[in-house]
Amino acid sequence: MFFGVFWISATFLFAEPIPYDPFLNAEPGKIIRVTPDYWKGKLHWPGEVLKVVILDVWQGDAIFVRTPDDYRVLIDGGQNSSPFSTFDAGYDVIIPYLKVIEKINSLDTVVMTHPHSDHVGGLVAILKHIKVKEVLDPGMDYPSGTYDKFLQLIEEHNITYRIVKDGEVLRWGKKVRAFTFGPVRIYHGTNSDPNNNSIVIKLIYRRISFLFTGDCEEASEIDMVAKYGENLRSFFLKAPHHGSATSIVDEFLDAVAPKYAFISVGKHNKFGHPSPRTIEKYMKRGIEVYRTDLQGTIIVLTDGIHYSIETKYTRWLRKYSMNPYRKKD
Ligand SMILES: [Zn+2]
Repeated sequence: MFFGVFWISATFLFAEPIPYDPFLNAEPGKIIRVTPDYWKGKLHWPGEVLKVVILDVWQGDAIFVRTPDDYRVLIDGGQNSSPFSTFDAGYDVIIPYLKVIEKINSLDTVVMTHPHSDHVGGLVAILKHIKVKEVLDPGMDYPSGTYDKFLQLIEEHNITYRIVKDGEVLRWGKKVRAFTFGPVRIYHGTNSDPNNNSIVIKLIYRRISFLFTGDCEEASEIDMVAKYGENLRSFFLKAPHHGSATSIVDEFLDAVAPKYAFISVGKHNKFGHPSPRTIEKYMKRGIEVYRTDLQGTIIVLTDGIHYSIETKYTRWLRKYSMNPYRKKD
């Protein structure tokens, strides 16, 4: 045990810095913030613009990515309805969003970062009503009716199903680069194994990069820093685990060194997310924080040099809900 602890600290103290890999990083150069008006006349797919939308799904994650060449990705689907709530992020937010705002009925890739219900829940509705070509899953054993239903729908609809680990290059069209940085291993016996097993993805478009972290926690963050170091560096960070106190250790935040952090979280959630201590960590480093509970849906548009960030109230989408468990109002 003593030697184990010593060895781990020694690795951190004396390890060679991980070399910067230009393939894993954004192009150097000036990045310019613009107002959303800048994109007038330029918003069409295929085109030059990458769109990343952190949807307001109350407590949970759902992120829509549309690459310049119209490769469409959904990372997580928020929660499904339960005996305690009829709200289903798939039926009430994501399907209306895709159909009414994006005007699409299909997705190329669905990433299920981990099988907790606030990530996989809404994906059940998605697989039932949206055409999906491929699903990525970290592939851990997880006994839950919702996850079983999700796996069953993948089989019924003949969807390509891939279990992914870190170190994979994802082919999301020809204009962006995307890689998995986690999970570095399959976690057992950590604070939350499902959270630590989250798929972590870095997306790069020219000078701009995003890091999508699912609900990864300390154990997984430390492994990623040890394996990828400064190659984790990203301009935008989807904050891990709804801004929880169990995530975002200093080493990880310093390696990512984002300019902006996006926290997807529900107002008055029972977990007490986000933690004030975590918010303080971002503030101390001058990282600008956006939150879905306070600001609604967060929309980022970029051509790889210019970028805009806009927040929008999108709860009105519920009037297009397909939720069979929810009375229309
Ligand atoms: Zn979560």
